[in-house]
Amino acid sequence: MSSSILINPATETQLREVEHTTVEGVDDAVARAVAAQKLWAALAPAARAGALRDFATAVDGAVDELAALEVANSGHPVTQARWEAGHVRDVLTYYSAAPERMLGKQIPVAGGLDVTFLEPLGVVGVIVPWNFPMTIASWGFAPALAAGNAVVLKPAEWTPLTAIRLGELALEAGLPDGLFQVLPGKGSVVGERFVTHENVRKIVFTGSTEVGKRVMAGCAEQVKAVTLELGGKSANVIFADSDLEKAAAAAPSSVFENAGQDCCARSRILVERSVYDKFLELLEPAVKGVVVGDPTDAATEMGPLVSKTHFDSVSSYVPDDAQVAFRGTAPTGPGFWFAPTVLLPASRTDRCVTDEIFGPVVTVLPFDDEADAISLANDSVYGLSGSIWTRDVGRAIRVSRGIESGNLSVNSHSSVRYTTPFGGFKQSGLGRELGPDAAAAFTETKNVFISTD
Ligand code: NAP
Repeated sequence: MSSSILINPATETQLREVEHTTVEGVDDAVARAVAAQKLWAALAPAARAGALRDFATAVDGAVDELAALEVANSGHPVTQARWEAGHVRDVLTYYSAAPERMLGKQIPVAGGLDVTFLEPLGVVGVIVPWNFPMTIASWGFAPALAAGNAVVLKPAEWTPLTAIRLGELALEAGLPDGLFQVLPGKGSVVGERFVTHENVRKIVFTGSTEVGKRVMAGCAEQVKAVTLELGGKSANVIFADSDLEKAAAAAPSSVFENAGQDCCARSRILVERSVYDKFLELLEPAVKGVVVGDPTDAATEMGPLVSKTHFDSVSSYVPDDAQVAFRGTAPTGPGFWFAPTVLLPASRTDRCVTDEIFGPVVTVLPFDDEADAISLANDSVYGLSGSIWTRDVGRAIRVSRGIESGNLSVNSHSSVRYTTPFGGFKQSGLGRELGPDAAAAFTETKNVFISTD
């Protein structure tokens, strides 16, 4: 049996060894999930709602413990990690209202009564990346369980610890054995088996566009449902009529939060040409003021990159001759530290402008007018997120409608809210998570006609 040795990315010390699930292990887990799901779906809706609330309560009691695991395993600043654990609790609480609200329709027809039922799919496979290990997992497992499904969850090989603990908390809270199982291991083994297993009826995949395409192709073999949350290269569009001070002060957190390892990172700053120089002047102190350091310190705003492999990948975008405008600070010594970096690319087609770097590196480019801003923002295979800064309400609406992206904010960089839908256009994904409709995405609609004859 293979295993991984986990490394603390802030200190490069070994944390612990985690055994990988084998293909046979996945098959056993899916068999248990099939049995557990039948009993779960047969429970009264109020009982399922109560069980999810108990799970949320257990997570609430473990917020500090989960946060400490994420700090050690992923290098997230502790303030951020506590927010993430609280977010998991809130997502569970929000979807605990769903079992009693899985409403069908009554449709007028001749000769009888026509009704629809939202039937659970069965077993759902959730595959998550390493950047936000517990929050992204909850976006899949909470609505899937609420809709009456069982869940098998594969955390990323580098960051399984919070997911493993969430699996234990579910059992401690009284969720039936086999209903929610966390199976650490490799994507090429555990993830692929989720895709090929006939009793896994839907895949929720969050990760790179490259792997997402393969997952989608695999799901096609069995006409298996799939939700994809993939990469991004989002634009932060700043017009000359905006509150420039506010836009500059807010820009660093929109791209450097979680060390830029964020699918929604606004990693392309686009600035109207007439205020380009002024904006850069305002941006410099904001970037240099980002507090990068020990993730266990509550004052830290940015931690290290997740691994040496990822550090090398991010570094390749800042070669010695890169056009660096300015950089923030980062600790020296052990740890995968990378200072916040602002690049002024030579062209709109430079790879630092087109590739998802997934690190604390942002490019700044000028644009000429509203049409140019929209066209530049859309000049990407991705379409996940983005922000628009302007005081002109009409322009805010026009540009919001013009940008091909699933999640936009005006005069802010709103992070993901569990009450609103989230997902991408183009190669950023397929389907939506979160919001009021997420549980329905884990059901099949069944139509039943009852004759009155
Ligand atoms: P990744 O390499 O695609 O991996 C994501 C997950 O898929 C991991 O658990 C991975 O397992 C697994 N996997 C790998 N190969 C697989 C296969 N053949 N079949 C099934 N599963 C497989 O992505 P990542 O590097 O972890 O994450 C970064 C990416 O995620 C970025 O592109 C980012 O934008 C994206 N992301 C998107 C969103 C969103 O909501 N749109 C949110 C967060 C992140 P291993 O751990 O073994 O590799």
